[in-house]
Amino acid sequence: MPDHAPIFLTLDVPSSSKTCDRVSVSKGVSWNRATDTDILAYKETLRVCLDEIELPLDALHCSVEGQLMCSCPDHANDLIEYHSQIILSLKIAASRCIPHRRKKGLAGWSTLVNPLKEDAIFWNKIWMDCGRANSGWVYNIRRKTRAKYRQAVRFVLNNQDKLSAERMAQALERNASRDLWQEVSRRKGGSSPSTESIDDVEGNEQVRILFIDKYDELYSSVSYDKQEMKQLCFDVDREASLICGMGKCSSKHHFTALDVRKAVKKLKGGKSDARPSISSDNFIKACDELCVHLSLFLSALLTSSLAPPAMLESVLVPIPKSRKKSVCVSSNY
Ligand SMILES: [Zn+2]
Ligand SMILES: [Zn+2]
Repeated sequence: MPDHAPIFLTLDVPSSSKTCDRVSVSKGVSWNRATDTDILAYKETLRVCLDEIELPLDALHCSVEGQLMCSCPDHANDLIEYHSQIILSLKIAASRCIPHRRKKGLAGWSTLVNPLKEDAIFWNKIWMDCGRANSGWVYNIRRKTRAKYRQAVRFVLNNQDKLSAERMAQALERNASRDLWQEVSRRKGGSSPSTESIDDVEGNEQVRILFIDKYDELYSSVSYDKQEMKQLCFDVDREASLICGMGKCSSKHHFTALDVRKAVKKLKGGKSDARPSISSDNFIKACDELCVHLSLFLSALLTSSLAPPAMLESVLVPIPKSRKKSVCVSSNY
């Protein structure tokens, strides 16, 4: 034993632990503009948020045991809550760490208008400080800078097509592929055209019903024997409860984190959900812990035959076959 006397030290250091406040998430985010640092921060924040989720152990256990299919109403509610907590974590982490969407600017505004605007504001301020005289050289400069600014605004507003074509050409020249595609989507007008009347019906609600019918018709256009289909469903249900439900099945009834990771790797970036605050990037850029949560959650769904209502939502986006033809005719979609 060395003969040193031990020194004891007590430190009073203020520290803060990261928590994931479940605050409301508002605006959409722009994954395109996220830097590597943003993505790292997203992963880290998501990890903290997911860590705070209370696992619905009973529901997961009931399902994993898999003696029989879990059909407890309490467990169903627990799983729905688990789902919404995972989604909320994805939204919160993205909203905190990923840059928010910018309003699209007019082509040429920042280069042609902004410098003149600043000039005009500068000379206007000097003119005001000089006592707002109605003549003299300050008054003349203020008048000129103001006129140039207004002229530039008019020019930019009247020449959007030309300016945006120029901006597109410049992007091509610099080989900045991202700028080019931004420009293309801006010119396309982004979303699909909308119309208040299609065929003989008027109003959003009626148009919605029309498209639901069309969709229904499309997906049941291949003929089938109703009785045969009924029998098939019955057989599948019976086998699932007699073989899978009794644990006599050799197939696996769960997803591993690796399965989820493989599936996520196949996702294409920039695909939005029905609710635009979640996109495929939320999953692609997530931390590994998300795969663990999703594997638990999806496995539980498989044995409880449940799907949270939010997962059942689907959105039909009508895409016109030809933009030259009328958007008011349903056969053009
Ligand atoms: Zn259960
Ligand atoms: Zn099975």
